[in-house]
Amino acid sequence: MCLAISRNYEQRRAASRDSSGRVQRNGYNAHPTSAKSKGAGVDEKTDVLIVGGGPAGLAAGIAARKYGFRVIIVDAAAPQIVKACREGLLPDTVEALARLGISFLPSEGSALRGIRFLDGEDSGQAYFPAGPAIGVRRTTLHQKMVDHAADCGVRLLWRTHVTGLNGKGVFLDGTQVYARWIIGADGAN
Ligand SMILES: Cc1cc2nc3c(=O)[nH]c(=O)nc-3n(C[C@H](O)[C@H](O)[C@H](O)COP(=O)(O)OP(=O)(O)OC[C@H]3O[C@@H](n4cnc5c(N)ncnc54)[C@H](O)[C@@H]3O)c2cc1C
Repeated sequence: MCLAISRNYEQRRAASRDSSGRVQRNGYNAHPTSAKSKGAGVDEKTDVLIVGGGPAGLAAGIAARKYGFRVIIVDAAAPQIVKACREGLLPDTVEALARLGISFLPSEGSALRGIRFLDGEDSGQAYFPAGPAIGVRRTTLHQKMVDHAADCGVRLLWRTHVTGLNGKGVFLDGTQVYARWIIGADGAN
């Protein structure tokens, strides 16, 4: 659960619930969806627009929501996003994720006490001085971050390309969305 969101956001979210208590799709909803089904229109506005829904974009989005900003994350792909990864989260990363409200059950990964580098006959190793690292499937990490971002009220637009920028915001598949801040978290792009 995202605990540190603003009271304003909670009021908006409560106002956007229907009689069954479900969050309606025209609010800052809790469910990932695509721009096409959301109908991102020309009057769409947000405080923060993040290009890229990988670990960096999701972390930035969750952090911005904790300060009460309206956040949209746009990604050309959609979960599950599978990437080349050695699937190790170093202790600083584990700590940073915990600060965002993301932690792992023992069944979701393996604690790693240290690291060893091998190069032919040569090797070097060390134990982590403060707390363990975690080995976790990248898809597990991504899904947890996606779920937590949605719980925090981040609006997630999958299968949507950012096709351009101007001084007012970005273009999503050609449609202007206005944003006060744009964060580029588009990975190797
Ligand atoms: C072989 C390998 C092993 C690795 N092992 C580890 C490891 O063990 N531990 C670790 O911590 N890191 C590891 N990394 C590094 C880690 O994978 C990257 O640092 C991490 O993915 C970067 O996250 P990101 O969110 O910046 O980018 P990404 O995960 O690449 O996300 C960027 C997103 O932006 C989207 N995007 C790009 N352009 C647009 C656009 N125009 N419009 C809409 N969306 C767009 C893409 O679809 C993508 O989903 C490894 C990397 C490699 C290559």
